[in-house]
Amino acid sequence: MKRILVTGGGGFLGSHLCDKLIEEGNEVLCMDNFFTGSRKNIHHLLDNKNFELLRHDVTHPTFVEVDEIYNLACPASPIHYQFDPVQTTKTSVLGAINMLGLAKRLKIKILQASTSEVYGDPEIHPQPESYKGSVNPIGIRACYDEGKRCAETLFFDYHRQHKVKIKVMRIFNTYGPRMNPNDGRVVSNFIVQALKGQDITMYGDGTQTRSFCYVDDNIDGMYKLMNSRDGFTGPVNIGNPGEFTMLELAQRVIEITNSKSKMIFLPLPQDDPMQRQPVIDLAKKELDWEPKVKLEDGLKKTIAYFDSIL
Ligand code: NAD
Ligand code: UDP
Repeated sequence: MKRILVTGGGGFLGSHLCDKLIEEGNEVLCMDNFFTGSRKNIHHLLDNKNFELLRHDVTHPTFVEVDEIYNLACPASPIHYQFDPVQTTKTSVLGAINMLGLAKRLKIKILQASTSEVYGDPEIHPQPESYKGSVNPIGIRACYDEGKRCAETLFFDYHRQHKVKIKVMRIFNTYGPRMNPNDGRVVSNFIVQALKGQDITMYGDGTQTRSFCYVDDNIDGMYKLMNSRDGFTGPVNIGNPGEFTMLELAQRVIEITNSKSKMIFLPLPQDDPMQRQPVIDLAKKELDWEPKVKLEDGLKKTIAYFDSIL
């Protein structure tokens, strides 16, 4: 049995990861400051003897004894990471320094939840890990994108300089139950709007694309990456190559919910990437991983979840 630290464990992905790690017979120490996460996401684990909750901000150092670290703490949706952009950069950069320092002292493996946002508004399509990205360093998304890019730099420098065992995962848009209904991401927004019969808020003309991965596939990839062969550091893309325009996404949500909602068109936010699709050859080869859940099936499960909480 391992004792595993999950930072951001009260969030959407973190709470599913806590479930998986406990199912696999580990002890979990969940660290969160509940900026965007919620106690509700981990409520079912609070009485589990293998689960412990620590309310703590990753920008401050931590002294705990663990065998592995998954570093997920960071707001992920644009409205939340733009709410206090300085804190967002601090969370990525100071959080990485603190967690890497802990991993160095304890001589343990550490996984970083990085993001497809390191590619910015990509000039090549689809995006392989070798693509170095096109990020506007002074734009309103930079606190997140550049924070995550700097965190990757720190991971690779701790690896080269201090021999810390690292695993870096570049996550593409992921959706599923326990997404925060108010966090402004497209899947949660469209579903909540469709279920409530409100207007569907389409930013821009809706021709921009994203590739959506269901949460179970993401967590499967994350677990496989942490347990991949020694010396494999990544970065590795984890996402679903199925690419859809926002118009297509809205159409599917409207169909499945049988909603009468109409689309309204609003301005496209600054620096909003026009397209995004992962190349997942590396994950297939190194992790024997590929996503299994189709958008249609994942949306049905996510809609059922939102229906139960709204
Ligand atoms: P989320 O907002 O639901 O979860 C993030 C968690 O981190 C929350 O529980 C939040 O309270 C916590 N947190 C934020 N700042 C903190 C701090 N300073 N100290 C301690 N805890 C803090 O988001 P998510 O979708 O679960 O994302 C988890 C991770 O995966 C993030 O690092 C995100 O950047 C990354 N990621 C997610 C996606 C996606 O589509 N969901 C895509 C790319 C990358
Ligand atoms: N989007 C939209 N309506 C919404 C929320 C988002 O049209 O109510 C668009 C947004 O402009 C972007 C895409 O959906 O082009 C994905 O947005 P999200 O915030 O989910 O993720 P990210 O931009 O970080 O990939």
